[in-house]
Amino acid sequence: MRYIFKKPLFPYVIGIFVLVLLTGLVLSQLTSDYIILFSVLFVEFVVLIIMLLHVFDRYMKPIKKVTKTVNELVKGNYRARIHHNSSGSVGELSNKVNILARNLSELTIQEDMHEKQLTTVIDNTESGLVLIDEKGYIHLVNRKFVSMFGKTPKDYKGYLYYDVLDNEKIHNLVQQTFLYEENVKESFTQIIDFNKKYIQIVGAPIFNERRILKGAVLVFYDITELKKLELMRKDFVANVSHELKTPITSIKGFAETLIESKENNPEVLDKFHKIIFDESERLQLLIQDLLTLSNLEKSEFELKVTEFDLVKVVDEVVAIIGQQAKMKKLNLTVDIENKLMIKADKEQIKQVLINLLANAVSYTPENGEIKLEVKKTEEYIHVSIKDTGIGIEKNAIPRLFERFYRVDKARSRNTGGTGLGLAIVKHIVEVHDGKISVDSEINKGSTFHVYIPTNLS
Ligand code: ADP
Repeated sequence: MRYIFKKPLFPYVIGIFVLVLLTGLVLSQLTSDYIILFSVLFVEFVVLIIMLLHVFDRYMKPIKKVTKTVNELVKGNYRARIHHNSSGSVGELSNKVNILARNLSELTIQEDMHEKQLTTVIDNTESGLVLIDEKGYIHLVNRKFVSMFGKTPKDYKGYLYYDVLDNEKIHNLVQQTFLYEENVKESFTQIIDFNKKYIQIVGAPIFNERRILKGAVLVFYDITELKKLELMRKDFVANVSHELKTPITSIKGFAETLIESKENNPEVLDKFHKIIFDESERLQLLIQDLLTLSNLEKSEFELKVTEFDLVKVVDEVVAIIGQQAKMKKLNLTVDIENKLMIKADKEQIKQVLINLLANAVSYTPENGEIKLEVKKTEEYIHVSIKDTGIGIEKNAIPRLFERFYRVDKARSRNTGGTGLGLAIVKHIVEVHDGKISVDSEINKGSTFHVYIPTNLS
């Protein structure tokens, strides 16, 4: 009965009331017995009300629920469902609406997932991305772009590209992409976190299915590393040419003098011959070092790892370098156990020891000390080569292992150095998965530390 006076039923109740009144009027013409008349009218009223409630409960209530659910679906709440056990066509309608709601909610979940996947891909690409519509408004910027140009996505999205991007080259690129309707490339430099970065940008037009321009995608590549490599390659070629030029010019000059001057003073001749010999030896050394480096850098380079006694290799190296040390009156001492087995590439390790000890001899003045110490820990075999030489300035240390880098160019050349020794050492240590470091103090000496892992396979 609680439904009766609810709004939707009210007109029907009034209708029943009017119908009962009309029946009462008609019956009052046929009988004057009020008891019968009222009993009939009461029964009629009750029957009609029960019928109304039945119709309401079976048809109107479920339809109301269906309407409510459909309204929720229209609003975007795809979790709305009809909970009503109706049969017949209303029940079928409820079922169908429930299926529709379930499908819609599955579709939204899939759409959400796709959107998330797309956002993840866009945000995690290694290139900066910007999407501009045909009017020039920015619709999307990814994480990489924000890391390149600063600010937050909110500072770009919804703005005209020329209001938020102040690089003229980007403006030109967008205009050309819109004008020519084809991919356009451009590059520029940008200061990011106080570092100069080289950025390459590609503008690609976007068309709809009727080939009407709808906007453009700008892709920003950070090509700083590539530029650095290109620069390094150029520097390397220039350096090699320069290093080769010096001895070749010298050899050619002295040979010409010998040919043209008809000099027969044996002392002068000897001097010239010696210069030519020394310079050609320098050339040979340089070429040898260049070949060693290029071999180490080859992608197919493989270490010839064997297990050997490092003490024996140290002895061989000391025998070679000991001569030069003796000539300079340097005291070369070795501190190593009687036997120290190591797994590594024997020839490469020998090269490391030769280069470091030769440097210690070259850069230590007469009567100095050189100490080679080897210690084995669980993780590493630690080789240290300590000298009491000229030392290295602090700011030169980070560049020490670059090819052709010399702290004092003239002094290094005089020692016969190629400027490649430490670059080779570093390469060998790194292909062994090891580490190298330097402690040094001007006029006090330097210590080079090499760590070779013990578990090298
Ligand atoms: P180089 O053939 O010129 O010795 P390296 O690559 O072996 O080339 O060394 C690079 C530079 O590092 C040298 O020119 C020198 O200035 C510096 N250097 C290397 N070893 C020492 C050392 N033990 N003491 C002082 N300076 C050193």
